[in-house]
Amino acid sequence: MEKIELTCIMCPLGCQLVVSKDKNAITVTGNNCQRGEIFGKEEVTCPMRMVTSSVKTSKGVKACRTTKPVPKSMVFDVMKEIEKLRLKSVKFGEVVIKNVLNTGADIVITAND
Ligand code: SF4
Repeated sequence: MEKIELTCIMCPLGCQLVVSKDKNAITVTGNNCQRGEIFGKEEVTCPMRMVTSSVKTSKGVKACRTTKPVPKSMVFDVMKEIEKLRLKSVKFGEVVIKNVLNTGADIVITAND
């Protein structure tokens, strides 16, 4: 059985998780809530991450993020898509990329012009 130790990043408590994996099951210990169990299982199957970045506009750079986590392996590709943008102006909450790289996540502005 393979055992992986990791820190849950789903809240500031940072529980120390032990994820045990064999061919039949994945179990998680050390978590204080169900979110930690879900996080631990995802980390050894398909790790996901929110992406926060900034978009270039004519008035400077504006903060943005994904509307949901994307596969960790795609984080840098998503950031490259964001870097390509050159916008005149943006509004808080505006979607500037829909379904970025077919991840199902949109890129949304998190700051006002
Ligand atoms: S397991 Fe639950 S309580 Fe612990 S860090 Fe993760 S989200 Fe927070």
